[in-house]
Amino acid sequence: MKNTTLCRLYIGGKWREAAESAPTGSVFNPSRGEEIARVPMCGAREVGEAVAAAKAAFPAWRDTPPNERAQVFYRLKVLLEEAFDDLALGISIEHGKTLSESRGDLRRGIEVVEFACGIPSLLMGESLENIARGIDCHTDRHPLGVVAGICPFNFPALVPMWMWPIAIACGNTFVLKPSEKVPLTMQRIVGLMEKAGLPSGVMSIVHGGRDCVEAILAHPDIAAISFVGSTPVAREIYRVGTANGKRVQSAGGAKNFVILMPDADVDRTVGALKDSAFGCAGERCMAASAVVAVGEAAERVLPALVDCVNAMKVGPTDQAGTQPDMGALISAEHRDRVAGLIDAGERGGARILADGRNLRVDAAPDGYYLGPTLVDQLDYGNPLVDTEVFGPVLSVLRAKTLGEAIALANRQPFGNGACIFTGSGKAAREFRRQVGAGMVGINVGVPAPLAYFPFAGWNDSFFGDLHMQGKEGVAFYTKCKTTTTRWFGLGEGEIWAK
Ligand code: NAD
Repeated sequence: MKNTTLCRLYIGGKWREAAESAPTGSVFNPSRGEEIARVPMCGAREVGEAVAAAKAAFPAWRDTPPNERAQVFYRLKVLLEEAFDDLALGISIEHGKTLSESRGDLRRGIEVVEFACGIPSLLMGESLENIARGIDCHTDRHPLGVVAGICPFNFPALVPMWMWPIAIACGNTFVLKPSEKVPLTMQRIVGLMEKAGLPSGVMSIVHGGRDCVEAILAHPDIAAISFVGSTPVAREIYRVGTANGKRVQSAGGAKNFVILMPDADVDRTVGALKDSAFGCAGERCMAASAVVAVGEAAERVLPALVDCVNAMKVGPTDQAGTQPDMGALISAEHRDRVAGLIDAGERGGARILADGRNLRVDAAPDGYYLGPTLVDQLDYGNPLVDTEVFGPVLSVLRAKTLGEAIALANRQPFGNGACIFTGSGKAAREFRRQVGAGMVGINVGVPAPLAYFPFAGWNDSFFGDLHMQGKEGVAFYTKCKTTTTRWFGLGEGEIWAK
């Protein structure tokens, strides 16, 4: 076995190991199927220590002026840019996505840091003078206290960074639990937060899985929880967290539909579909998972899409230099699950136009690879349509009209993203108004909003009221105070004349 490192915890400004009794899990390099680190699976004890440190740090951090808090993020931004290439390669090594996808993951995370630098303006309240004679009213925003973030594996940098930059800039203290499958990127970035001068205890990192999450849900001193992951877990986190009196924003899974109109620009649509369905090996909550081809759109677009998919190169992404179009999936288990769904889809009558199941990657035979797969003639009732696949599989359904296509897109329980490819403003407007998803793309394959906008999933893709990022993120991590002021004796003679 290779020499692997053990992930450490960062609690109260100190890096340390978990209790000796804590079990450990493996972190793999999916490109090679090799263990690269071990991660402690913490429980109530370590969570309790991190929350105690965060609680102790809260009063001083809350009272630090917002512009001083912002300075930490200006310094962090510089440190992130300096470390950019190393961090991006680290993401590819622990996740398997290509280097350019890792750079995108990190770049989008840095954009949230830039947003957090603007916190003095974002925290400004509202005021109205003279709401009644001699009475003024104003609101301001206050941090909640200790908040926690629980993250999925698929964006090792971006998803955690939806959470803590905004929460901490708002004056909260934060306990982060990254995905136990990709804990290394956040370890490095929290190290940069330390270098940027964040006071001890303001941010802690604990590792683990279900036990760690249950300890977070149960801890009475945690005021709010941000969660991103699969829908069954997201729903449960929301249910238990709110029952325990916490504010919760909980993002779940997705099944993103793309509607292809007969007048779509073929070349551009094919390029966008390739990126959307197979970028990050389909392990993206905004990935195109199903296409509904309207009228003759299938005949126009599918031949070029099949050629494009068959030309894609798949391989290891863990070294700088020549990179493939697509990397490995996160684990052997997940790869086998996705391949099993393709098998089941085929048994259910699907027609396989491009088949990734028999792919062999000679350069890295033990990596968790599955080639890009395109499947036609699908409908509800087939597992490829009914389930979130979360892998490099694009399913094609057919419809006669836009109305029929929107009805198909709206039949699934999720509501993250939905896209249309068309040259018609009328079709695009109708789609935008009728589709039941919170993030809509018009001739855009991955309509993931920038840091200034909310990441606005609907239905089973989100449980809660205020989404991650943007002004909704600031509202989630703060509570409003409204002050009404009256001074007696106004208008009764000179002020201070003796
Ligand atoms: P996951 O639900 O398995 O894990 C997410 C987190 O929950 C991890 O930190 C994990 O340790 C913890 N966890 C897992 N099982 C648990 C349980 N039974 N009880 C308590 N905690 C538990 O998700 P994943 O496989 O890491 O990530 C992929 C999923 O995340 C996909 O469904 C994807 O769509 C979703 N996702 C959604 C968004 C969004 O914005 N809606 C963004 C990224 C990923």
